[in-house]
Amino acid sequence: MPKEMNSTGISVGWTISGVPSPQSIIDAAAAGMVSRQDLCYEEFSKDINQEKAEEFLRKMIQWGHESVLEHIVFQFWVSISRVASHQLVRHRMASYTQMSLRKQRELTVESFVIPWQIKLEDLDEWISDIRHTIEIYNKWLEKGYGPDVARRKLTQETRTDVVITINARSLRNFFALRMAHDADFEIREMAERMHKLIEEKSLGFLFEDIGFGK
Ligand SMILES: Cc1cc2nc3c(=O)[nH]c(=O)nc-3n(C[C@H](O)[C@H](O)[C@H](O)COP(=O)(O)OP(=O)(O)OC[C@H]3O[C@@H](n4cnc5c(N)ncnc54)[C@H](O)[C@@H]3O)c2cc1C
Repeated sequence: MPKEMNSTGISVGWTISGVPSPQSIIDAAAAGMVSRQDLCYEEFSKDINQEKAEEFLRKMIQWGHESVLEHIVFQFWVSISRVASHQLVRHRMASYTQMSLRKQRELTVESFVIPWQIKLEDLDEWISDIRHTIEIYNKWLEKGYGPDVARRKLTQETRTDVVITINARSLRNFFALRMAHDADFEIREMAERMHKLIEEKSLGFLFEDIGFGK
């Protein structure tokens, strides 16, 4: 699980190569210019700086010419519940690699994502239910069944780690749907934290026209 865990128990971070390189932003803008003007890539790319690339990509978004955004690729590493991962992988325009439960695991309470809504007075009871789930899982392993069978007794709040590779165009669609008010709270938090990471890297301009939270 990634180290930076917050109080809600989910974790969202970049992979080592996850932040799009400055050159990939320039190349995406150059691709857009190639498509709009009668000049070749070499002529454009050497004269484009970050500021010019940003300005041009903003225009491409306004014009609805979003396919150039597919040249900008993000990669995240998240640790979320299986409820959220199930929703995440419905976004087909991305690549995922998910932690397997096919191998036998030493499960602890930390192997589950506890919803932040659980009140302090109910927390012990919630955790006791988690421990019961772990007992049931272990019981079926002890009976000689493999983890493939035993894992079917696990609840949807079981934690999983997922590496996500997604381009800027698809990420715009993901943010529009999953940062909306009617999205499930966990995937919404995940999306918001991904968006915050992107803003910290000064790449928020790719998403600023999306009506977040509506
Ligand atoms: C609030 C909320 C509630 C939801 N509730 C449910 C639910 O109850 N049940 C349920 O099954 N799902 C539900 N979903 C999931 C939803 O239906 C989508 O599967 C999910 O949001 C992925 O969106 P997407 O298809 O736009 O993304 P992607 O799969 O990443 O696709 C991106 C875009 O590519 C295009 N595209 C992709 N594949 C095709 C294709 N085969 N044909 C044509 N165009 C394509 C579309 O333009 C699409 O918007 C819910 C989503 C949200 C946000």
